[in-house]
Amino acid sequence: MGYIANYGYADGSGTWYVIIDSGKCDGCGKCVEACKENVFEVITDDYDDLVAIVKQEKRKSVKYLCNPCISATGKENLPCYLACEKGAIKHSW
Ligand code: SF4
Ligand code: SF4
Repeated sequence: MGYIANYGYADGSGTWYVIIDSGKCDGCGKCVEACKENVFEVITDDYDDLVAIVKQEKRKSVKYLCNPCISATGKENLPCYLACEKGAIKHSW
């Protein structure tokens, strides 16, 4: 088992975060498939565990990227939330 940590990614405004709980994430990749904006990728961490992260090039624009999802599904039924059976993803609003 790898280390437990929360990763927060602030967007350009500094007010919007996507948090992935690496203690819950098992690297299944379902969030990668579910997110039309390709916000996530699965990497191998320093402990050889698979874990989802927010792609470097997406980090500054998650607020912009996620707004269409919020409009379409509401804040509680986002595709990434529904895809993640581990409940490892959180958005900060
Ligand atoms: S809210 Fe939508 S665009 Fe944002 S990370 Fe989740 S699935 Fe992707
Ligand atoms: S769907 Fe959840 S458990 Fe699976 S890789 Fe994404 S964050 Fe991790």
